[in-house]
Amino acid sequence: MANIKISIIGAGSAIFSLRLVGDLCRTEELSGVVVSLMDIDKERLDAVHILAERYAKALGSNLKFEKTMDLNTSIDGAAFVVNSALVGGHGYLEKTRKIGEDNGYYRGIDTQEFNMVSDYHTLTNTGQLDFFLKVADTIKKLSPDAWLLQAANPVFEGTTLVYRETGVKILGFCHGFHGVEEVIRELELDINSVDWQVAGFNHNIWLTRFLHKGKDAYPLLDKWILEKSKNWKPENPFNDQLSPSSIDMYKFYGMLPIGDSVRNGSWKYHFNDDVKKKWFGEPWGGADSKTGWAWYQNMLKETTEETEKLSKSMDADLLKRFPPDKMSGEQHISFINAIINNRKTRLILNIPNRDGIVPYIPDDVFIEVPLTVDADGVHPEKLEPEIPERIVSMYLLPRWLRMEWALAAFRNRDLEIFKEFLIRDPRTKSYEQVESVINQLMEELPEFRAHYKKN
Ligand code: NAD
Repeated sequence: MANIKISIIGAGSAIFSLRLVGDLCRTEELSGVVVSLMDIDKERLDAVHILAERYAKALGSNLKFEKTMDLNTSIDGAAFVVNSALVGGHGYLEKTRKIGEDNGYYRGIDTQEFNMVSDYHTLTNTGQLDFFLKVADTIKKLSPDAWLLQAANPVFEGTTLVYRETGVKILGFCHGFHGVEEVIRELELDINSVDWQVAGFNHNIWLTRFLHKGKDAYPLLDKWILEKSKNWKPENPFNDQLSPSSIDMYKFYGMLPIGDSVRNGSWKYHFNDDVKKKWFGEPWGGADSKTGWAWYQNMLKETTEETEKLSKSMDADLLKRFPPDKMSGEQHISFINAIINNRKTRLILNIPNRDGIVPYIPDDVFIEVPLTVDADGVHPEKLEPEIPERIVSMYLLPRWLRMEWALAAFRNRDLEIFKEFLIRDPRTKSYEQVESVINQLMEELPEFRAHYKKN
């Protein structure tokens, strides 16, 4: 396996990189691969590099690590490129959110109907979309056969954009589908007796097949709702799979939203912090409320600090901190192993809608569906049953249009499209409000101004 190189871009994202390294250590068939860790933050990169080497050594794994701050060096010769970078970091997202709130857009202008996820900026983080294209162009130039495994958000916009503009072999990765397992656990079912499918767009997937021992399992969920849902309480802001918002979406759409899709209901669940508390539970009101997001930011800060501390302490017990007993739940390494060693594996990935799996959606738009991966590539499952009409017409089609508007504004550097987007936002009360928020973005964010100044 000596010739296989995996490049991780934005490797300073500690939890994520160590999860992948841990999965590699647990996958003996990938022994000997070279992992190129790339980041522009030297301190973070150094810390992750040290930890990765020590962790692999503690597990007795034969992996080789390289570190670099140069994109070309990392991508050159790579067979797989994982992009997990967040351009501008969380600080940039906070700035844009504040400007939005200063102008009457609660939780910022990137928070829109069907996209309420706080680090999923489709409108203002132009640097992120630019970087997606830069990574893809570098692959095209230096390693044209490489697979691009897109983990950084926005996955839906990013995969579709890169596929259309560059034609590289891109797939979108997200761990949100694990919400299905939470439902199975809560209903006390044996996971091996459950047959399930999810389908939709990234952060917009639905449990379209749910069978227990071959029989419809939705009545078991109905029974849980009747008898047990009143006792539900979130353990942390992200614990929303069986929250009142999720159940309410299920009642309206006829199928359960899975993972981050629960955060992406309509404004009904998001008007303000009190409304969020009602639908996502006390005390946080879900991950995307002020307190819920502050909780997450704090957790990320603590993890980054802990990573640095661990990297400096030679006595740190890494196996205790990152127990090696099971795979992380991220799908990247399973995908790589399936391709390299022809290990047939079922995954949930984002791929172009080439086979018309989701009706009414064009074939160059990325959908998230179950599929099998092997040395020949990806083979999507047939959806049985199909996604219901109501989900397609009332949820997926409006979300798809918002993706197209965001990409059109970005690609054409067209602030008029951007304005039109905001005019249709229910929080907009006047045209002056739209101009005010855009002026402030242009004044205070050099990156944003640089992107749109040409128009
Ligand atoms: P983070 O800011 O903690 O880490 C991102 C890393 O990217 C940092 O180390 C930063 O230095 C680096 N970076 C920034 N600009 C770069 C550049 N030009 N080149 C190389 N590296 C660069 O962010 P995070 O919380 O780890 O999130 C990273 C991304 O992953 C976000 O887009 C987030 O939304 C996404 N995410 C995806 C999933 C998923 O399942 N797909 C889950 C969680 C987070």
